[in-house]
Amino acid sequence: MEEKLRILVVDDDEVDRMTVRHVLIKAGVEMELSEVGDGKSAIAFLSHTLYDCVFLDYRLPDQDGLSLLQNLRSSHITVPVIVLTGQEDEQIAVELIKAGAIDYHLPKSRLSSEILVQVLRNAIRVYRAEKQVALVNQQLRQSNELLIRKNQELEAQQQHIELQNLRLIEASRLKSQFLATISHELRTPMNAIIGFSQLLLRPRCGELTHQQRDMVERILNNAKHLLMLLNEVLDFSKLEAGRLDLKPQIFDLSKVVNDTVQEMRSLAEEKNLSLFLQMDLQNPVMFNDPMRIRQILTNLLSNAVKFTESGGIGVELKELSENQVGITVLDTGIGIPSTDLQKIFEAFRQVDQSITRKYSGTGLGLPIIKALVQIMGGNISVESQLGEGSVFRIQLPRHISSLSQQRSDGTSNSHKTSVKKVFWKQRENLRLAQEGVNGKSRER
Ligand code: ADP
Repeated sequence: MEEKLRILVVDDDEVDRMTVRHVLIKAGVEMELSEVGDGKSAIAFLSHTLYDCVFLDYRLPDQDGLSLLQNLRSSHITVPVIVLTGQEDEQIAVELIKAGAIDYHLPKSRLSSEILVQVLRNAIRVYRAEKQVALVNQQLRQSNELLIRKNQELEAQQQHIELQNLRLIEASRLKSQFLATISHELRTPMNAIIGFSQLLLRPRCGELTHQQRDMVERILNNAKHLLMLLNEVLDFSKLEAGRLDLKPQIFDLSKVVNDTVQEMRSLAEEKNLSLFLQMDLQNPVMFNDPMRIRQILTNLLSNAVKFTESGGIGVELKELSENQVGITVLDTGIGIPSTDLQKIFEAFRQVDQSITRKYSGTGLGLPIIKALVQIMGGNISVESQLGEGSVFRIQLPRHISSLSQQRSDGTSNSHKTSVKKVFWKQRENLRLAQEGVNGKSRER
C-alpha cells in the first residue's frame, strides 16, 4: 500500500492496542494511527475525521462492537470496520457482517502481521469497490431520472406538434375550400364577360369603330387570361382536396396535340418565335382524359412562349414503347438555374419571386401538370440550361387504368445535353423529314 492510511484502533486494552500497532508497523503499513478506548470516543473521532479503516474490539466498556457498528451506520458513517474479538462466535459474526462490518476477524491471540495486512487491504479494497458501485448506481439513477424527464418533455412536444398539425390541416382545408368557392364564384361573371365580348365582336351586333374593336378585344383577351388563372386556382384547390377526377375516354392523341399546337401558334408568332411539331406515332389511340392532356400541353407551351424571347419552340410526340407515349416541349428561352429545377414543381414557386418580376403567372401551372401526370400514372422531368432553353419531357401510359407507379421528382435522369443543340437537331430532323427522308414526320 503506497498511500498513507488513516487508521483508528478502538480498544479499551492498552496492550491489545499496542499489539495491533506493532503488527501494522512490522508489516510496513504507511499510516497515521489514532487510538481510543471506548465507543463514545470512537463515534466522536469518526464524526470529525475521515478514516480509511477501523480496528474495533468487540468488547468495549460502554457498549459492544455490534451496537457501535449499528450506531455508526445509522449516522451514515460508512468507514470499513474490522472487528477483533477474544473468542470466535458464529452467531456474533453473522450479526456483525449484517450490521456492515467488512470483516470479522479471528481472535486477537492469533494476530499476525501477514493476516492483519491482508485483512486491512481486503477491507479497503471492498469498501472502495462498494463506494464505486454506489456511485455508479447513483449516476445510473440520475441518468434514468433525466431520461424519464426528457421522455416526458418529448411526449409533451409531440402532443403539441400533433395539435399544431391538426390546426394546420384544418387551416389548409379551409383555405382550399375558400379558394374553390371564390374561383368558382368568379368564373360565372368572367364567362359572361367573355361571352358578351365575343358577341360584340360579331358583325351581327353592328359595326364597331376601330378603337371600339380594339378595346373589346383587349377586354376579351384579359378576361380569357383571368379565366385561365381562375381555372388554375380551382384545379389546384381540387387537387389539394383530392377531388380532381379524370374523365377518361378513347381519343386520337395526334389530333389533340396537333389542335393544341395550332391554337398556340398565333401566340408564338406574336413574339416572332418559330414553332415546330414532330409526330411519330404508329398508334395514336389513347385512353385518357383529352381535356386534361390538352391542358397540360397548353400550359407547357404557354410557359415556353412566355419564357422565350428569340429562337423557337418545339413539340415532339412519339411512341416510347407499346404502352407508353412521350410528349416533349422544347424551347430556346431563358432556361432555369439548376438549383431551381426541383422547386418549380412546388406550388407558388417561381424562379423570379420578386414583385418586380418580368413574367406574370401564379406559379401553379407546373404543380398542377405534375399532379395530373402522376394521377395518370405518368412521369414528368425537366432538363434546362440557363440562357439556352428548357426541355420538359412527359411519359404517359397509353391506357390510364394500367397506372404505373412511376415516381416523378421533376428532374431528368438522362444525360445532360445542350438544350439548344437538342432543339436545333430536332428542327433539322424535321426539315429532312419534310424533304421526304422520313414520311411520318411533318411540320405544321
Ligand atoms: P407560372 O408560369 O405561372 O409562374 P409555373 O408553375 O407554370 O408557374 O412555372 C413555375 C416557374 O418555372 C415559372 O415561374 C418559371 O420561373 C419556371 N419555368 C417554367 N417553365 C419554364 C420555361 N419553359 N422556361 C423557363 N422557366 C420556366
